[in-house]
Amino acid sequence: MNIILLGPPGAGKGTQARRLVDERNMIQLSTGDMLREAHTSGTEMGKVVAEIMGAGKLVTDEIVIGLIDEKLRGENGGGFIFDGFPRTLAQADSLAELLEKHGQTLDAVVEMRVDDEALVARITGRFTCGNCGEVYHKVTKPSKVEGTCDVCGQQQMKFRTDDNEESLRTRLMEYYKKTSPLIGYYYAKALLKPVNGLGEIEEVAAEISTVLG
Ligand code: AMP
Repeated sequence: MNIILLGPPGAGKGTQARRLVDERNMIQLSTGDMLREAHTSGTEMGKVVAEIMGAGKLVTDEIVIGLIDEKLRGENGGGFIFDGFPRTLAQADSLAELLEKHGQTLDAVVEMRVDDEALVARITGRFTCGNCGEVYHKVTKPSKVEGTCDVCGQQQMKFRTDDNEESLRTRLMEYYKKTSPLIGYYYAKALLKPVNGLGEIEEVAAEISTVLG
């Protein structure tokens, strides 16, 4: 089963994707993670996109489509979870073509609904483990021992440079202008499965499980 997790920044896409990886052996394809990785490893593309990402703008369709195309050639385990991709109608059209090219189909688009106020609170407090990727929040999900990851025990907590209020405003604007039209696009294809993203992590996970069957 191949699915998209669709929703604004801070909706919980990454957190829920990680659960699906654990529970269903699915493969998470996060274009945001791939771009951050490209930056950390010092590739030319990483350098080019770092400034755009820091400002909260979208990078070009060509770059992210190229990244996804490459990943679709690899193992697909229990299916792919597209997390943070597609973000534009052009990317959505390309994804359809790429899936066809790789003999795959898209089975569901889970739309995670969260209001803007909750997003600001979630994003400005979040941090992740740089080793295993576990996501934390200083108020709603702190680690048991400050600075140490509950899952892997490493002390490599990281805040994202674009998780500040100014960049978030731009990211939300980009979402409403360029990404939210995908809700109608996938509704018309009868793939859209809206879930309430405002609940506890477990509640949202249960709702996602129900809609995916
Ligand atoms: P994310 O980790 O999904 O919040 O993405 C972080 C940043 O990476 C975004 O604010 C964009 O600058 C860039 N990015 C990630 N995915 C895409 C995409 N599909 N299209 C364009 N830009 C993207």
